[in-house]
Amino acid sequence: MSADSIQVSPSVMERFRETNRTFPKSPEILAARARGQKVMGWVCTYVPEELLHAAGALPVRISGYARETDLSDGTAYFYVNNCSFARSCLQLGLRGEYGYLDGFVAGSTCDAARRLFDLWRNYVPVPFSHVMSVPRKYTVRAHELYLGQVMELMRGLEGHLGAAITDEALTHSIALYNESRSLLRELNDLRKQGEPPIDGARALEVSNAAGRMPRESFNECLRDLLRELEGSGGRGRGKARIMIAGSALNNPEFVQSVEGIGGLVVTDELCTGTRYWADPVAVGENEPPLAAIARRYLNNFPCARMYPSAERFRRLLDLVREFRVDGVISQTIRYCSPYSNDLPLLEEVLARQGVPLLSLDVEYGASGSGQVLTRVQAFLEMLEARRR
Ligand code: SF4
Repeated sequence: MSADSIQVSPSVMERFRETNRTFPKSPEILAARARGQKVMGWVCTYVPEELLHAAGALPVRISGYARETDLSDGTAYFYVNNCSFARSCLQLGLRGEYGYLDGFVAGSTCDAARRLFDLWRNYVPVPFSHVMSVPRKYTVRAHELYLGQVMELMRGLEGHLGAAITDEALTHSIALYNESRSLLRELNDLRKQGEPPIDGARALEVSNAAGRMPRESFNECLRDLLRELEGSGGRGRGKARIMIAGSALNNPEFVQSVEGIGGLVVTDELCTGTRYWADPVAVGENEPPLAAIARRYLNNFPCARMYPSAERFRRLLDLVREFRVDGVISQTIRYCSPYSNDLPLLEEVLARQGVPLLSLDVEYGASGSGQVLTRVQAFLEMLEARRR
């Protein structure tokens, strides 16, 4: 039976799906704005959402079209060697789709994200904009620098909003976001099963919705989904258990196309998936909550931008073992320099462990078709033959 046959009750999934379908102008975001709540856009997983939430704002993760589309507006401003994720985000911004934003916060995580911030500030102006310098290392000095950046963001928000962000508010936001992380872990742990009750495409829909819904409603919906999945039994086995790694991926159709030809996508190493929710904020005894937030964000399951890559590979291999992955599909958006430059190293690491890798060059929003699917099909058949 193909992985595509896994069924999840539409009633709960539909709540996530509706949020994603209407995004960026999701009704819940517009309603929050209409009630007078500030809406702050953020780009990249090195921006601490808890801080925006503790400031009383609704944090919304900036993403692009979750499908292949015309990017001519974005392309007109970006030089050609920037990734289609950044161009797609800008395209939506230029078209006024994020017109409700009161603020835009970015991290200098890669050049494309950094340039996205510059272009956004110039051509899609918002009342508050802020970019954080994010170190690439884990040294003591890097942590000090990053904590300084988080404090600077806090001061900027306080100055803009005219209100202090208290430790109490930060503690509350940490608990709320940690709850999401633990619910997402619970959901993803179900995918360790031989026949998981949820497939990779739906799991991606859920994590997409995390950055697009008020966190309180997201947690409530996810609790409902977990209740529904409890004991529902899995029905999809697939030809091979697959991990998807690489650049930003928001399009569930890409995952669905892999699952539609028999790949069972059981885990990922994506900033829109596992890397987003894997690590909680752990507050030490008598530790200021802001320091704990800063430590968590710099030490989080790393992006390929971080140096050295060893920690990312270590965690990726842990996932391979925990989820009994047969093969890894790495999808690299063209001109995504962090992931494309890290790819030869990843190839070596996986080869040493005997884990097959299929490396695909894609555009952001691609749904997986034609040549890509032919290559995936051949990869799945090879993995299936290895299993016998
Ligand atoms: S990490 Fe890659 S996909 Fe993400 S913004 Fe940077 S270049 Fe684009």
